[in-house]
Amino acid sequence: MGFFTFHLLNKIIMAKVAAFHSIKQNVYHDDNRCTEGNNIEKENLRQGTGGKPKCSRCAKLN
Ligand SMILES: [Zn+2]
Repeated sequence: MGFFTFHLLNKIIMAKVAAFHSIKQNVYHDDNRCTEGNNIEKENLRQGTGGKPKCSRCAKLN
């Protein structure tokens, strides 16, 4: 697979999503590839940034 194809696929698969956060974490997430964001349990999940800084993992993914 060439670099360009890979890059293109990566762009399609990657998904920047609406900001969400966990009431148990001090950061918010906005990428569905973030393992930390994906591990948030439903009862702790909230929409929006919660006024928190962005998760460093999401910042790298974006
Ligand atoms: Zn994150």
